[in-house]
Amino acid sequence: MRRIAIVGAGQGGLHLALGLDPGRGYEVTVHAARTPDEVRAGRILSTQVMYGPALALERTAGLHLWEAGTPRMGSLRITTTDTTVTAAFDEPAQSVDQRVKTARWLELFEERGGRVEYGTVGPEQLERIAGAHDLTVVATGRGPLSELFGRDERHSPYDGPRRTLAAVYVHGMRSLPDAPGPQLRSSPAEGHGEFFTMDGTSFDGPCGMLLWEAVPGGPLDRWQDLPGNPDAVVERSLELLRTHAPWEYELCAGMEPTDAGAALVGAVTPVVRHPVARIAPGTYVLGMADAVVVNDPVTGQGANSAARCADGYLRSILAHGDAPFDRTWMLRTFAAFWEHARHSVTFTNLLLAQPPEHMRRVLAAAAEYPEIAHRYANGYADPARFRDWLLDADRADAYLAAVTGRQVTDA
Ligand SMILES: Cc1cc2nc3c(=O)[nH]c(=O)nc-3n(C[C@H](O)[C@H](O)[C@H](O)COP(=O)(O)OP(=O)(O)OC[C@H]3O[C@@H](n4cnc5c(N)ncnc54)[C@H](O)[C@@H]3O)c2cc1C
Repeated sequence: MRRIAIVGAGQGGLHLALGLDPGRGYEVTVHAARTPDEVRAGRILSTQVMYGPALALERTAGLHLWEAGTPRMGSLRITTTDTTVTAAFDEPAQSVDQRVKTARWLELFEERGGRVEYGTVGPEQLERIAGAHDLTVVATGRGPLSELFGRDERHSPYDGPRRTLAAVYVHGMRSLPDAPGPQLRSSPAEGHGEFFTMDGTSFDGPCGMLLWEAVPGGPLDRWQDLPGNPDAVVERSLELLRTHAPWEYELCAGMEPTDAGAALVGAVTPVVRHPVARIAPGTYVLGMADAVVVNDPVTGQGANSAARCADGYLRSILAHGDAPFDRTWMLRTFAAFWEHARHSVTFTNLLLAQPPEHMRRVLAAAAEYPEIAHRYANGYADPARFRDWLLDADRADAYLAAVTGRQVTDA
């Protein structure tokens, strides 16, 4: 039996834990800060939109348990004061309340014979855990334990949050009358941030989900004084929508929070960390997902990346057989994940900066040319698809010129 400890029972840690079944020779202990009932009774954790490729990984692992009852967002619609872009996703996106999902996954892990230890793991306890296991994976998300992993300055351009975040789950949010079905809607407000609406599922079935991404100090950043209770977030959202996105106000006017924990207010500092931490002489732990690569949610990458990370780490563990999980194996395992994650980081940080001129040109062209809109919308599912155009201004302009037949000039 190979003894594996996974610290952190969220999107990434549980996906990995559920893949390491005892029948394959793994004895897995998950360290969970909260019980399933505590998770269900708590605040929302995310808006967790997942795109086709990440959903496919969950489906293959037998973990996409809410697929049938969850709205399938078939398209992306971006609306600004002067333009609208709509494009179909090749595969639908879905969002399942992480309170529902991770609470059930944790129960499932226990039902299948996995061992769970409840409580928050501190650095000293981690040293004991790592000493007693063949492999210890730290999957604690943005929790403080991630500070054990050194910051990778090369990929961490920001030392503080670029957005203030507010999210709330609601009943009563309407779709656009001309929408072909559930949509992911985005309303960027030039220089001030973004507003998103999604269709997802929570405890009592389908619901709407709202996410504000406010540039700190700007007119959308009206969240810091709020207690974060769902009624207050709904009320403040309507106030802001009336002025900044009246087209959304029309659709959201009748909304009400789904439950007492249906809101969160906060901020995320984007950071990439070194994936392996030495916690005692000769003892190393491996970081996964948000513990080592944190993106602002503006591009909806984190939960998708966590699923990819879990799948990649699982395959790397299985392929390693009985060989030791040493530092070299850990670095190699992370490197394979980073091949994907680095594009999510670059894409997200591009949108978080003052959006570059070429992004404006892409959106303007996308409003006119369905081919460009389609290529842009479907890059969210795998930002590696942006590598050859959007992430580089010259290549993006070359692509626009090829499709539109027009010379591209700076505004
Ligand atoms: C407002 C918001 C909206 C978002 N929207 C999206 C989106 O639309 N699409 C998307 O893909 N991503 C989105 N994300 C990001 C996504 O939710 C995360 O990236 C993803 O959940 C990360 O998974 P993880 O397993 O690394 O961490 P988490 O899912 O955060 O899990 C970490 C777990 O570790 C536990 N833990 C922490 N510290 C300890 C400790 N010391 N001991 C024991 N347990 C511990 C926590 O309680 C938690 O259960 C959003 C995030 C936010 C904040």
